[in-house]
Amino acid sequence: MTFNASLAEKIELLLPQTQCRQCGYPGCKPYAEAISRDEADINQCPPGGEQGIKQLSQLLNIPAKPLNSQFGVEKPFQVAVIIEADCIGCTRCLPPCPVDAIIGASKQMHTVVAQQCTGCELCLVYCPVDCIVMQAPVEPKFDAMQARKQHQVKNQRLAKLEAEKAERLNRQKMLLAKLKQAKS
Ligand code: SF4
Ligand code: SF4
Ligand code: SF4
Repeated sequence: MTFNASLAEKIELLLPQTQCRQCGYPGCKPYAEAISRDEADINQCPPGGEQGIKQLSQLLNIPAKPLNSQFGVEKPFQVAVIIEADCIGCTRCLPPCPVDAIIGASKQMHTVVAQQCTGCELCLVYCPVDCIVMQAPVEPKFDAMQARKQHQVKNQRLAKLEAEKAERLNRQKMLLAKLKQAKS
């Protein structure tokens, strides 16, 4: 199937924007694009659950089906909480957070902005002292469109850093080649 950007966006807007990767794609947008290309099924998103599958089936005019348990199970929404007394300030939880919901700096106590946390659980395995736990939210749930934006901003920042790194390496290579040439 050819790529239809407008259909992919309509699909993406129905997804929960948890950015948890459980669907097998690195975020809601790439999963939506895969569905629009007919490369992924509509029942791979556990946070969206049965309700999400129903909405996708209505949009695409295809039958709904049960959530594929290979990708996970639907469960109540929870947010990450850092047990601050145990945090050693290693910063390892910062890069995996898809929406920059964790605040902290090296050797300082870290904290999760509860209203920004999508509950993706991606930070948990990176904590060397297991001081990040999932708990029922006490504040209103994250805003899906805000999470989508935060994720886009983070991806753009990472892409810029990658491009700068590639450019630096390229410059170093050219410099080395020139030095070699001058020596020969
Ligand atoms: S919420 Fe998670 S599983 Fe669902 S589409 Fe987004 S990244 Fe995939
Ligand atoms: S704080 Fe953890 S659980 Fe919450 S969005 Fe970030 S990575 Fe996901
Ligand atoms: S990974 Fe754990 S110990 Fe390290 S900064 Fe994050 S919460 Fe603190």
